Amino acid sequence: MARRADYLVVHAHLFTMEGTGVGYLADGAVAVRGDRIAEVGPTSRLRSEFDADGILDACGCAVLPGLIDAHMHTPLAIVRGVAQDVAHWMQKALAPYSRHINPAAALAGTRLNVVEALKAGTTTMVDYATPLPGWAEIYDQIGVRARLTPTINALPPGGMAGWKLGDLYPLDPAAGEAALDAAAAFAAGWHEAADGRITVMLGPQAPDMLSREQLLQVKDIAQRQGLMIHMHVAQGDREIDQMLQRYGQRTPAFLDDLGYLDDQLLAVHLTEATAREAELVAQRGARMVLCSGSIGIIDGIVPPAHTFRSAGGLVALGSDQASGNNCSNIFNEMKLTALFNKITFRDPTIMPAWEVLRMSTIEGARAVGLGDTIGSLAAGKQADLIVIDLEVPQLSPVLQTPIRNIVPNLVYAASGHEVRDVMVAGRLLMRDRQLLTVDEPAVLAEARLQAEAIAGRVAADPVHAQLALLEPMAAGQL
Ligand SMILES: [Zn+2]
Repeated sequence: MARRADYLVVHAHLFTMEGTGVGYLADGAVAVRGDRIAEVGPTSRLRSEFDADGILDACGCAVLPGLIDAHMHTPLAIVRGVAQDVAHWMQKALAPYSRHINPAAALAGTRLNVVEALKAGTTTMVDYATPLPGWAEIYDQIGVRARLTPTINALPPGGMAGWKLGDLYPLDPAAGEAALDAAAAFAAGWHEAADGRITVMLGPQAPDMLSREQLLQVKDIAQRQGLMIHMHVAQGDREIDQMLQRYGQRTPAFLDDLGYLDDQLLAVHLTEATAREAELVAQRGARMVLCSGSIGIIDGIVPPAHTFRSAGGLVALGSDQASGNNCSNIFNEMKLTALFNKITFRDPTIMPAWEVLRMSTIEGARAVGLGDTIGSLAAGKQADLIVIDLEVPQLSPVLQTPIRNIVPNLVYAASGHEVRDVMVAGRLLMRDRQLLTVDEPAVLAEARLQAEAIAGRVAADPVHAQLALLEPMAAGQL
């Protein structure tokens, strides 16, 4: 008797990402029942074994696990493109804008960024933001998978306004306490919500933005509640300077002494980590998020992910935020990651296409703590998958022998617009490039309105005189 399936995805160039490579299967099929994958195998076998309500014909297409973006700040998409090509990016470009992002604008930014990432095949989004009412609901409603991280810091109200480069930040324990309480309440409400599709991590923003005592409080809650900690680590020379002034230690040594370096930690950036420090963090079992585009544009640096992986560490890819990186597109991150590392090491064999594809699927899933649920296509896992049209000029011709060319073309030639269908937890969120759970034109219109309002407030605020980009603007370069 035939087994029942809700969907049968058939005739695909299937990349399951099972095993140690990309797990290719020619003319492959995936049977989906409820929110899970029921079976993976040759189309001929699954066709005869399953009686499916819906058929998704993937002839001429690659089918992969949905991509994972392990570090995003979605509200900042509302100020996309206002902070590039400058030194002291945070103070001289972003801060005059970010102080004018009100809650409605932040939520419009999140919607915009989720739509953007979803259309480029990202199905799991690890978002780091202030836990505004309505933030998690966006993920709940659109239907993507999310690891939400409410920001916890002890910066005084008004943030870093008035702080001078080189001085210690003033830390405000009451502000840290309030943020910690808000994060704990958020976790109580949203961890394992939406049938497990939405989960929560704790987000001490960076080791220099909370006191030692409050970092330990976060660790204690994380241990008691089984939550991962998602933190910027060694993210800039500013942070290292703060750590040296405050504790006389660089970040990795400080965190090691504090008991932070273990498999509960998702360490973002490691921009300023030396090779030895990257090895230490990896050997302790912490995971790394590599944001190649963002750190390239903001700092002109290639973080030590190759060293981290060579020491046995797991690395996921992240897009960070659109005010620095301009886009949340894992195809972009895969290509930049492969290129930047080859260039750094002057070695074309470093970070081959298949490895960066694993970093955005199965390795990324393990890094963010979801390796048992997502990241590969296998019976019992969540049905998060993407269908990519290969019959487009930039991905043609498809060759099978003696060399199969699909994976290099996906990494080096695809832009993400080739993603045709997206499924998360067995539910189609995009079909034939049409989003099914969100009104895309309405999202774009709202984002435009909110962004123009922010720009107006920035222009009226005397602080805008600090903007480093005023000069190129006046010179006709923007
Ligand atoms: Zn970040």
